[in-house]
Amino acid sequence: MPEEKLKEEDFEHQPCPLCHEKTLILTERETEVPYFGKVYLFSMTCNNCKYHKADVEATEQKEPVKYEFEISSEEDMKVRVVKSSEATVKLPHLATITPGPASQGYVTNIEGILSRVKYQIEAAKEMEEDEEDKKKAKNLLKKLLNITWGKEKQKIIIEDPSGNSAIISDKTVKSVLKVRVEK
Ligand SMILES: [Zn+2]
Repeated sequence: MPEEKLKEEDFEHQPCPLCHEKTLILTERETEVPYFGKVYLFSMTCNNCKYHKADVEATEQKEPVKYEFEISSEEDMKVRVVKSSEATVKLPHLATITPGPASQGYVTNIEGILSRVKYQIEAAKEMEEDEEDKKKAKNLLKKLLNITWGKEKQKIIIEDPSGNSAIISDKTVKSVLKVRVEK
């Protein structure tokens, strides 16, 4: 990775939000993502209960954002993606990565997102007992492989109410995310 490491700090013996023991290690890292800006990477790992959480926070852009990008070539695999734990990643007709307490934040590229989706589908396929659903999962994996090779086009949408996510490419269509208020 050509990513330049700027600063890294470790804080040991922090209280764990899950088991409440002082066995948590908090790591803070500052990194520069080209055409996006400075990003803080947080990582928490508990040695006692194995709780793990990672997230990203941009120093600038803060408004709710929606990014749309069409994956159409092998070259697109290298497109940088910043995904916060509050982001919803949608690959229509393929998969959705949902936000929530178990969701992680990271800096990756399109290929990294696709390999996470692949892992998700493979894990679901292993659990599946129904033959029809197993077959469906197999077809999705085949589709994924074609997308990776640039043989099939795929839209990717990232919605982030925190504004901490991005798809960094000239082809990306960025718009303001309309946050739905629950009534
Ligand atoms: Zn713990």
